[in-house]
Amino acid sequence: MNLTNFRFETDADGIATATWDMPGRSMNVITPELMAELDQIIDTVASTEAIKGCVITSGKEAFSGGADLTMLQGLRDLYIRLAKEKGEPVAMQSFFDESRKLSLLYRKLETCGKPFAAAIHGVCLGGAFELALACQYRVVSDDASTRVGLPEIKVGLFPGAGGTQRVARLMQTGDALQMMFKGEQVKALPARNTGLVHAVVPRDQLVANAKEWLKANPQAKAPWDDPKFKLPSNKVYSPAGMQIWPPANAIYRRETNDNYPAARAILSAVYEGLQLPIDLGLKVESRYFAKILRTKEAASMIRSLFVSMQELNKGARRPADLPPSKLKKVGVVGAGFMGAGIAYVTAQAGLEVVLVDRDQEAADKGKAYSHKLVSDQIMKGRAKTADRDALLSRITATADYAALKGCDLVVEAVFEDPKVKAEVIAKVEAAVGPKTIFGSNTSTLPITGLASHSLRPQNFIGIHFFSPVEKMLLVEVIMAKKTGKKALAMALDFVRAIKKTPIVVNDTRGFYANRCVGNYLREGHLMLMEGVPPAMIEAAGKQAGMPVGPLSLNDEVAVDLAFKVLKATKAQAGDGAVDPAQEKLLSDMVEKNGRLGRKNRKGFYDYPEAGPKRLWPGLADLVGKRLAPEQVDMQELQHRLLVTQALEAARTYEEGVVTDPREADVGSIIGFGFAPYSGGTLSFIDNMGAAAFVKLCESLAKKHGERFKPNRQLKRMAKTGESYYGAAAAKAAARAA
Ligand code: NAD
Repeated sequence: MNLTNFRFETDADGIATATWDMPGRSMNVITPELMAELDQIIDTVASTEAIKGCVITSGKEAFSGGADLTMLQGLRDLYIRLAKEKGEPVAMQSFFDESRKLSLLYRKLETCGKPFAAAIHGVCLGGAFELALACQYRVVSDDASTRVGLPEIKVGLFPGAGGTQRVARLMQTGDALQMMFKGEQVKALPARNTGLVHAVVPRDQLVANAKEWLKANPQAKAPWDDPKFKLPSNKVYSPAGMQIWPPANAIYRRETNDNYPAARAILSAVYEGLQLPIDLGLKVESRYFAKILRTKEAASMIRSLFVSMQELNKGARRPADLPPSKLKKVGVVGAGFMGAGIAYVTAQAGLEVVLVDRDQEAADKGKAYSHKLVSDQIMKGRAKTADRDALLSRITATADYAALKGCDLVVEAVFEDPKVKAEVIAKVEAAVGPKTIFGSNTSTLPITGLASHSLRPQNFIGIHFFSPVEKMLLVEVIMAKKTGKKALAMALDFVRAIKKTPIVVNDTRGFYANRCVGNYLREGHLMLMEGVPPAMIEAAGKQAGMPVGPLSLNDEVAVDLAFKVLKATKAQAGDGAVDPAQEKLLSDMVEKNGRLGRKNRKGFYDYPEAGPKRLWPGLADLVGKRLAPEQVDMQELQHRLLVTQALEAARTYEEGVVTDPREADVGSIIGFGFAPYSGGTLSFIDNMGAAAFVKLCESLAKKHGERFKPNRQLKRMAKTGESYYGAAAAKAAARAA
């Protein structure tokens, strides 16, 4: 055999071991070359009499993360090319054949006549877990890092190499659907308890255990290849099946609002496949897979949530000519809500943290937040007491600015008050050396203005986190007028160290994310003032694909904060910059009724001590008028809620605030949950086409006002047929030439 991605050896008992260890990669992935080698291994095992069975294991710290998604992107490109050159039917056939290859290969392994066992340590996900599912035996290590699962749904795909069929034949149907809908990663013990794997053993016994099993079961077959096989939840058309399928449909609708074709395909593939023998079930799955792979949802999600996100994480925007920063000690000034979170994620990354506040008590309180977060992890069995001790020992809480000496980077998260910030900048600069980079976490103050208080504006940059810091993946890095390359490199190295995703934006009020999401909130407020029933506004937000409705979201970020931002905008940009209806609503909410949001249990919703939140009945009196539900066009509400955000993103792009469509898209999904199926704000426009988007904006502008007027760049794109990604690719090609 000619293998470069596997080591293959056979022991004295005739049990072969194929150790998957791809050269030059930290993680094993499924590529066309890998598939060709696996094919050779299957042939060799099947045709060599002396070989009784084969263990597949990994030579790396993890088993594998699954298929190389760029390979799937390539398939889509092939389809488009063939459709142009040879017509739709030829393109479709070839696409189906190609996208089915992995599934057929796994079925070949499963039915080659010799048993296979997967010995799994670390993550084993997607196509890699589908490989394991095709093996007759699966043993996993008891290590905390070991996880199996089918997370394809997260990039708009679904398990297309047998996953839907095998998982639904191993687990109760409801559990199988849930696991695939959520893209859950299952730890060792629950995986065994639900029947996904057969055994859990210490890591050093994995291969021996798999070998023993193969020796004892030379004739092993997959359960579904036994004529007596029975489905775990009985037949689809049976009383038991009828307990499952009607609610499954309802749950699907509730969770996805029918926005994710891949989720619907999982439901269909399992429902149809379970009524058929395995080979036909696999073919049904393949048909759906080929269909899903060609959807714009899958293409957009793979691009934004996999390819672009990886590129940004790896430093796509980092100045390439600067060596990696030597980042050891980070100062965090302001140990409040944000500063405490920043200190935690920094210490968790193994960096030393100096956490400064006005007095020792406030600084200690900030550090106590880290104690609480790790303690929660310990309670859940995800951390040990020693981890907490180590993490806390890396955080020095103090009121003494002099302790910041020696910090490579200082992030400020003090009150949102220019005067306080100016004072803090001076105090920090007096304590640190000339090379220290200063990052401000301000959410509304322009960085260039803050940098004017700095003696070293080239070292001054915005590092804008989202709350809660420990959960939110996005960090906006903001370039002020005089910010230098070293500051940018340091900020990006820091974001990388704490395992977050950066987008680099230029300095304007609200930067990028808050401008877009602010429009979402405003649209919700204005709908309310028009008399749209609040429950319909909330439902429209979710149906459009947002994680929560605009009123819920405003309660989370605080209604008084929205009011404060509105007042600041008015003070800076004039009366015309704010909508009087929104101003009245927020003023009535905050000033007249003390409704501040979830934080005081009174916002657009009431938050009773016991039981779920409920829309505040007083909203009706506040607004005064109410449209009857049948007067409301739900589709128009959805359009308004998404278009207002996408249009704002288009404006920030024209203004040069965001400069790369990848950043606008990734930032919008991970920063404020913009309808992930769309691929992000600018993909939303590209997918609709600029001409159709402009038309939609113009019709909304006519009915609802100037705020929907498309910007100049968009109108030009509508005429020329340009797209954001098309233009960015053309620019990149020109640069390369
Ligand atoms: P906060 O009020 O919870 O915390 C501010 C902290 O700064 C307090 O602990 C205060 O004692 C401390 N402080 C004030 N003056 C100080 C000084 N001179 N020296 C040292 N410490 C001082 O506020 P927060 O919500 O954490 O916001 C902090 C910053 O982060 C603001 O600029 C805000 O705009 C920004 N921000 C907030 C959010 C959010 O969701 N809250 C999100 C992104 C950015």
